[in-house]
Amino acid sequence: MSRDPRYDILFEPVQIGPVTARNRFYQVPHCNGMGHQMPEAHAAMREIKAQGGWAVVSTEECEIHPSGDVSPYVEARLWDDGDIPSLALMCEKVKAHGALSAVELTHNGYTSSNLYSREVPLAPSPTPLKYGYPLQARAMTLRDIRNYRQWHKAAAVRAKRAGFDIIYVYAAHDLSLAMHFLQRRRNQRSDDYGGSLENRIRLLREVLQDTKEAVGDSCAVALRFATEEFLGEGGVQNAEAKEIVHHLADLPDIWDVNVAAWYNDSLTSRFGAEGYQQPFTAWVKQITSKPVVGVGRFTSPDTMVRLIREGALDMIGAARPSIADPFLPKKIETGAINAIRECIGCNICVSGDMTITPIRCTQNPTMGEEWRKGWHPENMLPKKTEKRILVVGAGPTGLEATRALGQRGYEVMLAEATEDLGGRVLKESALPGLAEWRRVRDWRVGQIEPMPNVSVFRGNRLSAEDVLAIGADTVVLATGSHWVRTGIGRSSSEPFNGCDLPSVFTPDDIMAGRFPDAGPVLLYDDDNFYLASVLAEVLAARGLEVHFATPDDVIAGWTVNTLDYRHIQKRLRKLGIHLHTAKSLQAFDGRRAELACVWSDDVVHLDAIAVVSVTMRLPDDSLYQDLLARESEWQAAGIAQVSCIGDALAPGLIAHAVYAGHRFAREFEAAPGENGDSAEVPFRRVRIATGVQH
Ligand code: ADP
Ligand code: SF4
Repeated sequence: MSRDPRYDILFEPVQIGPVTARNRFYQVPHCNGMGHQMPEAHAAMREIKAQGGWAVVSTEECEIHPSGDVSPYVEARLWDDGDIPSLALMCEKVKAHGALSAVELTHNGYTSSNLYSREVPLAPSPTPLKYGYPLQARAMTLRDIRNYRQWHKAAAVRAKRAGFDIIYVYAAHDLSLAMHFLQRRRNQRSDDYGGSLENRIRLLREVLQDTKEAVGDSCAVALRFATEEFLGEGGVQNAEAKEIVHHLADLPDIWDVNVAAWYNDSLTSRFGAEGYQQPFTAWVKQITSKPVVGVGRFTSPDTMVRLIREGALDMIGAARPSIADPFLPKKIETGAINAIRECIGCNICVSGDMTITPIRCTQNPTMGEEWRKGWHPENMLPKKTEKRILVVGAGPTGLEATRALGQRGYEVMLAEATEDLGGRVLKESALPGLAEWRRVRDWRVGQIEPMPNVSVFRGNRLSAEDVLAIGADTVVLATGSHWVRTGIGRSSSEPFNGCDLPSVFTPDDIMAGRFPDAGPVLLYDDDNFYLASVLAEVLAARGLEVHFATPDDVIAGWTVNTLDYRHIQKRLRKLGIHLHTAKSLQAFDGRRAELACVWSDDVVHLDAIAVVSVTMRLPDDSLYQDLLARESEWQAAGIAQVSCIGDALAPGLIAHAVYAGHRFAREFEAAPGENGDSAEVPFRRVRIATGVQH
């Protein structure tokens, strides 16, 4: 295949100060939960992006000094020369594929809690730390400011020695000292660094000048800059941001612009569509003559071309689209547009960083596994034998298992009970705000359809008898799960009284179009993630009064890890949903629900005509159990292996389902070690040698 000429513009080189990017695809900095603690894994992940055609591949935040220590979060680190080799490894690997490497130097001021270094945090003015650690940051003296400039300069020199081509100054996400000095609400100084806008910009200007002086002969200096915080007067607003860009216009070699904070920048698809940042960043290019890179979860090459032609951007910035498909540029370049695995905007990738574990992705199960499992997003081991495999169930687990086994060359039969493919993804993507999640299904179905070695049987609900009659060598059961009606879940092992009434509903009912026909409705959430809040929207849209109750102390608690939390809180309040925390559902009689406080003996009663219970799921594994009961018949039927995977084994995220399907396909007939694993631990690890000083 060859490239569509209308995309040629995306492959023009871009001059960035003293360096040249080979095309307009720019992987902007993104966290990954591996950072300085797993340098090999980090370098391998970045290498894959370079191989996939990105012209610039960046690190995540890179700490420059122990007083800006973001532990327990694991980012990059350049505190002293001993940190150079880890990042040099990344530079070497990225450059081997013709890409430029970039490093996002930062001192996070009062947003770093210094839990590891135990240094006193720094800020423009005295302030409590942002992330709740009970300590305050001290106001920086002029000496501190001089020191900070020196640390930044030293880190820039180290970055150059490590081999980086582009060195960042970071004033974005409400996460760095350079930005904190800009913000009126953070900066109450009365010296040359506070007060007027010119004074508040001073530090940023100086750090940019320092960095250019230190490394600008051979490295480009990028400025990552937040143009809007959506906080009104106290925050950086577009109007003031314009003045700042005017002041610094041609000082950086490239402007990397976005909105702040991170939860606004990495908006989930539920709260923002592709290109949502454009109104807040597109004007930057009119002020500076230097190239501008911006983000907006861009996956459509047509959108990318339009943005370049409209003069909104010079380079297409991407974090999540590069995670979901590291080969996105290569696929556009080779005309394989349909092969692009588009990001669905779910932010499970972010949850890796938030839970301090290696990055993962719903769409791309190989993300974070490049080094430790040797998984490549495009390549798989070819099949070993002529075995025929039956996959039962075409949810995300079954679809990915089928696709990946099909890619390996195996003969695969996929049987699905319903007429359409997609399982839970099909149902959930029909809920408000989740339409993009359908891409999980669409990409896989699109990949499977042309495979001559894969046959798909829709409308086929298989029994154990059927499976034995088909006589495949291997049977993979990916039959999914269902929500319980009893209220049993994380907080309760007992059903609530009245759970068997017809006016008790589950998420499966709502997704199948069975709704309470009157309110008030009690939405009882012990799942603590996104689904209950989405169902609240469904019920509110039907004009029903909704009471949202949870035994947890907060609503939708786990969504902090996907950056949805604030947006969900705002939306539920805007919709007029009544919120009840720390309440456990005890009983429902068709007119009233009884809720017990989880911290006291208090009991409250709520008028409710219906209950929607969102607590836990049970595996739909009856087919697996039936087959296990008939194991003595497998051999005669030609069956050597029956595996139950995905939600049918242990219900989880869509990301878990895709991973389970992919893992099965990777490991099928692979020898231990062939995927980079060992016999005991299915992935490679870094061991820290005792006594070695780092
Ligand atoms: P997962 O997330 O693990 O992929 P899903 O619930 O999304 O699970 O999908 C399971 C799929 O399996 C559903 O589409 C369901 O219709 C299908 N399924 C369940 N039991 C059978 C069966 N006995 N035969 C064929 N398909 C089945
Ligand atoms: Fe996109 Fe979700 Fe993958 Fe993140 S985890 S890159 S949001 S698909």
